Amino acid sequence: MKIIVCVKQVPDTSGKVAVNEDGTLNRASMATITNPDDLNAVEAALQLKDETGAEVIVVSMGPAPAEGMLRELLARGADRAVLVSAREFGGSDTYATSQILAAAIKKIGLEKDDVVFCGRQAIDGDTAQVGPQIAEKLGLPQVSYVADIHKDGDQITCKRMLEDGYMTIKVQTPCLLTCIKELNTPRYMSVSGIFECYDKPYEVYGYETLKDDPLIDPSTIGLKGSPTNIFKSFTPPQKGVGMMLEGADKATCEKLAGMLAAKHII
Ligand SMILES: Cc1cc2nc3c(=O)[nH]c(=O)nc-3n(C[C@H](O)[C@H](O)[C@H](O)COP(=O)(O)OP(=O)(O)OC[C@H]3O[C@@H](n4cnc5c(N)ncnc54)[C@H](O)[C@@H]3O)c2cc1C
Repeated sequence: MKIIVCVKQVPDTSGKVAVNEDGTLNRASMATITNPDDLNAVEAALQLKDETGAEVIVVSMGPAPAEGMLRELLARGADRAVLVSAREFGGSDTYATSQILAAAIKKIGLEKDDVVFCGRQAIDGDTAQVGPQIAEKLGLPQVSYVADIHKDGDQITCKRMLEDGYMTIKVQTPCLLTCIKELNTPRYMSVSGIFECYDKPYEVYGYETLKDDPLIDPSTIGLKGSPTNIFKSFTPPQKGVGMMLEGADKATCEKLAGMLAAKHII
């Protein structure tokens, strides 16, 4: 059994967010982290590995420095890493990204028992489209917003989180699941894992590796093959400082009511 986990390296937005003059994110000047939901996806895969002995393969599409993130995931317990990287793949929107990742997953090979995990959403692009699009392109059943998993043979029972409750869904493998933070608590790297991470298999899939797959068509990958374009990007102006009224006495409440009435809110 194989578990393939798609992992994206994203800018660390907990610090200062650097924005270029044209409004795009200045990724080069910002520290990077592993997309948080993807760490939950990796942890889910590692827990299934602990139960079943499955092989865990982490896959990322991005520039060469993403190797550091993939090595860290090998140190957490993944068995193999694949970096999908080529100039031809640069500038891809979500449609093109999922096209390329689907071709990479086909290259790794998907069998009856296998599972593909994605995070629900990346904290930079924020679309939550890539996982479901990969499933469509591979013809896999998919469950999104997965908050609990139980595997029994070729069937997985998932608890899917909704806004106001949960849904229980049984899905047949091979399938694709998108994971949310409620699913688990990601483990840390182990000392032995850190020692082993540079000895584990690490491959780079370039354009040449994937070009024979029908999904890798110049008209459907990269900047030129992306059906969506960013028309305009901007940082919204900051809101002014609010007004604080202190106290819960009658006079303060009357003042508040007067202010709200003046703005026609009440
Ligand atoms: C309209 C538009 C235009 C864009 N144009 C450009 C552009 O010109 N240049 C550019 O660099 N980017 C561009 N992007 C960003 C690019 O589409 C995203 O970086 C990428 O497609 C992933 O989308 P997302 O961040 O919304 O991921 P989501 O769909 O939110 O991610 C969900 C999950 O999919 C998996 N995943 C997503 N991306 C990857 C990846 N790269 N490797 C492995 N797993 C992954 C992860 O498991 C992740 O948790 C554009 C995005 C949009 C919406």
